[in-house]
Amino acid sequence: MTSADLLMLAKKCGAVKEGHFLLTSGLHSGVYVEKFHLLEYPEILSEFVEALLPKLEGPFDRVVGPALGGMIVAYEVASQLGIPASYAEKARDGSFVLRRGHGVSKGERVLVVDDVMTTGGSVRKTIEAVRERGGEVVQVGVLVDRTAESPADFSCVSALRYVLPAYKPEECPLCAKDLPLLRLGG
Ligand SMILES: [Zn+2]
Repeated sequence: MTSADLLMLAKKCGAVKEGHFLLTSGLHSGVYVEKFHLLEYPEILSEFVEALLPKLEGPFDRVVGPALGGMIVAYEVASQLGIPASYAEKARDGSFVLRRGHGVSKGERVLVVDDVMTTGGSVRKTIEAVRERGGEVVQVGVLVDRTAESPADFSCVSALRYVLPAYKPEECPLCAKDLPLLRLGG
């Protein structure tokens, strides 16, 4: 599937909405990403993972994804690659940990995945959790990469790179057209 096909699927399931939105940053945008819709339909998630896999350079012993969405992506990737999945959960101090007895063994080659990467924060904390266990993070893959600039501390491949244009209110072309502004629930 091409990026255009994936974007069409994302719109079809409601993950990408078009309109005139007030983002939590105070900026206005013509598109909004509701990432959980990507995980709502197994066949759509499966298409995104299928598009991601050819961009990965394995082999991997294990795939690890962070709570919540990244866990579902890790499960689907593990299913398609035929390897085990582990799930990083949020700890009280805001870091991510591998709990519940399952986890990464020392020296394992690990693929870290997530659903939508906006700042890379969850991915970064997952990498730390894997290294804490002695695992080697070989690669990072996400379904949708929204970062305007790629993170400096790790490289990442994505099924779909989708950077949203955002405008200051006084420069917003949608305000200029008098389109009603939708406030997002955070
Ligand atoms: Zn506007």
